[in-house]
Amino acid sequence: MRSGPLGSLSPRTLLGVAAVLVALALPLVLPPFQVTLLTNILIFALVVTGLVLLTGIVGLTSFGHAAFMGVGAYTTALVSTRLGLSPWLGLPAGLLVTGTLAALLGAVTLRMQGHYLPLATIAWGISLFYVFGNTPALGGNTGLTDIPALELLGLRLTGPRPYAYLALLSVLLAAAGAQCLLSSRTGRAMRALRSGPLVAEAFGVPTFRLRVQVFVLSALLASWAGWLYAHNQRFLNPTPFGLQSGIEYLFMAVVGGAQYVWGGLLGTAVLTDLRERLRDTLPALLGQQGNFETVVFGILVIAVLHGARRGLWPVIERWLPSAGLRRLEHAGTLPTRAPVPRGEVLLDVRGAVKTFGGLRAVDDVSFTLHAGEILGLIGPNGAGKSTLFNLVTGVSPATAGQVLVAGHDVTRASPGAVHRLGVSRTFQHVRILPELSVLENAMMGGYARARAGIVRSVLHLERAEEAALQREALAQLERVGLQAHATELAGALPLGQQRLLEVARALVGDPALLLLDEPAAGLRHGEKRELAAVLRRLQAGGITILIVEHDMDLVMSVVDRLVVMSSGQRLAEGLPADIRRDPAVREAYLGVDLPGAGAA
Ligand code: ADP
Ligand code: MG
Repeated sequence: MRSGPLGSLSPRTLLGVAAVLVALALPLVLPPFQVTLLTNILIFALVVTGLVLLTGIVGLTSFGHAAFMGVGAYTTALVSTRLGLSPWLGLPAGLLVTGTLAALLGAVTLRMQGHYLPLATIAWGISLFYVFGNTPALGGNTGLTDIPALELLGLRLTGPRPYAYLALLSVLLAAAGAQCLLSSRTGRAMRALRSGPLVAEAFGVPTFRLRVQVFVLSALLASWAGWLYAHNQRFLNPTPFGLQSGIEYLFMAVVGGAQYVWGGLLGTAVLTDLRERLRDTLPALLGQQGNFETVVFGILVIAVLHGARRGLWPVIERWLPSAGLRRLEHAGTLPTRAPVPRGEVLLDVRGAVKTFGGLRAVDDVSFTLHAGEILGLIGPNGAGKSTLFNLVTGVSPATAGQVLVAGHDVTRASPGAVHRLGVSRTFQHVRILPELSVLENAMMGGYARARAGIVRSVLHLERAEEAALQREALAQLERVGLQAHATELAGALPLGQQRLLEVARALVGDPALLLLDEPAAGLRHGEKRELAAVLRRLQAGGITILIVEHDMDLVMSVVDRLVVMSSGQRLAEGLPADIRRDPAVREAYLGVDLPGAGAA
C-alpha cells in the first residue's frame, strides 16, 4: 500500500499533466486541416464522455444521444439567428431545453428493463431526427444557415485554432468533471447500478433517481457538443443528429473502452480519424462512391469486442503506472448510530408469510433477535431461508405478518429504508464490483452515511466526506483482515476473501444488525474457519448478527441460538446443543450428518 505525502505528485499524475500539455500544444503545431479534424474529435468526445457515464458505467445503452446533440445545436441556432441573441446565450438555452427533454424522456423510459430501454432510445432518436427535418422553423432538410460565430473579447472565433482551444477546454472540463464524479460516492453508486440494482438498493442508493440524473447529465454533455458544433459549422441540417450518428458514438465508446473516460476520448479519436482516412482512400481503392467506411467500422467494432472486450484503453493502461492508494488527508467525520442496548429486541418477525402462487415459501414464521446475539437461521435447501431474508431486508414484501427493526415496522419498507434503520447485508452469490479496488468496494457500504450528490462530486467538493469514508473503509477492512489487500482489484481475490470483503462493506454502513446470506457457501475449510473467527470478533465488538446458512458446521460453531426452518415453517428454536438432539430437526436433515449429534 502506497501513501505519498500530501502534495507530491504520483508518476500517473505527472503523466496526465504531460498529456494535457501535449494536447494544449496540438492546435498550434498541427497543420490547419488537422486542427479542424482535432476540433471535430473534441466535439464528438463530449458526446462520448456522456455515453461512457451512461452506458459504460451505469450500463444503460442509448442510441439516441446524437439527437440530444441536435437539440443543443438547433436551440442555439434558433437563439442566435431567429431571436438575434448572443450565441453564448445559446449554450445555457440549449442545456435547459435538452435537460428538460431528457428528464421527461428519462422519467418515462428509465424504468424499463433489458432491451426495452435501447429500443426506446432508438424510438426517440428517430422521432427527434424527423422533428429536425420536418419543422419549417428549423429549416427542414435543407437546414439553417448563417449561424453567427462565437465572439470572445471582440475576437471572432472563426479560425480553426481558436475554436480548437474552445473545444479542448470544453473536453478537459468535462473529462475532469467525469473523473471526479467516478471517484466519488455517487460514482461508486453509479457503477453498482450496472450489475443490477440489488446491491445499490441494499446500501440506500435511490436507483431510479440516480439513473435519471446520469441520463440528464449525459444528455447535457451531448447538448454542449451540439452548441460547439453549431457555431463551428455555422450551418445545420439533420444528418449528423440521426440514428446512424447515435450508433457511431456508441461504437466510439465501445472501441475505446466504454468504462473509462480516457477510453471514450481514445475511441473518438481513433474512429473519427479512421473515418476521415477511409473516406479518402476507400472510394479510390474500390473505384466506387459510397459510405464504405461504415462497413469497416462494423468489422472493427466486432474485432475489438472479440479481442479486447473492454476496449482499447485497458490494453494501454496496463503499461501506465498504477494509481496506487492515495490517502485523503482531510479531517471529516461520518455520522454514527447510537448503539442499541444489549438484550433489546432488534429484529422482530411476527407471523411472516410469503406465498408464490400456491406455494407457501414462508409459512407463519416468528422469531426475535436481541442486540448482541448471533442467531442462526438454518434449514435444508428450499426451506424458505432466502425468502425470509428478503422479507427482512425489504427486497420483497411479506404476504402477511409483520417485520420490525428496532421497533420500526419495515414490512412494506424498501431495502434502502431498512438499511437506514441500521441493517446491512451480504449476498448469497457474492456481488462485488470486480474491476474496482477492494477499498472502493468497501467504501460503497458507507453510501447512506455520506451526502454529496452529483453536482458536488463533479466539482470535487466532497473531499472531507470522502476522506472520512476512506478511513472508515480501511478500518473495517482491517477488522476482517483484508487491510493488506486494499489496493488490489476486488475481482482478483479468492472467494473466501470476497465474502469477507462483503462483510467489511456491510460494516462500513455502521450497522446495528448484520445479515449474512449463506456466507460459507463455496468456501474451503480454512476459509470457513477464518470467517467464523471474524464473526466471533464482530460479536465481541458489539455487532448483532443474523446468519442464514446451509452449512451446519459453521453455524453450530458461532451462533448463540438457532431457528430451524423446513418447508417454509419454523420447525424448532433453541440452543445449538438442543437443536442437535431435536428429533424433528434430524428428520428434516435426514441423510445429513449433524455435527455432534452422535455424541449427544
Ligand atoms: P432456501 O433459501 O431455504 O434454500 P428459498 O427461500 O430460496 O429456500 O426457497 C423456498 C421455496 O420458495 C422454494 O420452494 C423455492 O422454489 C420457492 N421460491 C423462492 N423464490 C421464489 C420466487 N421468486 N418465485 C417462486 N417461487 C420461489
Ligand atoms: Mg437460499
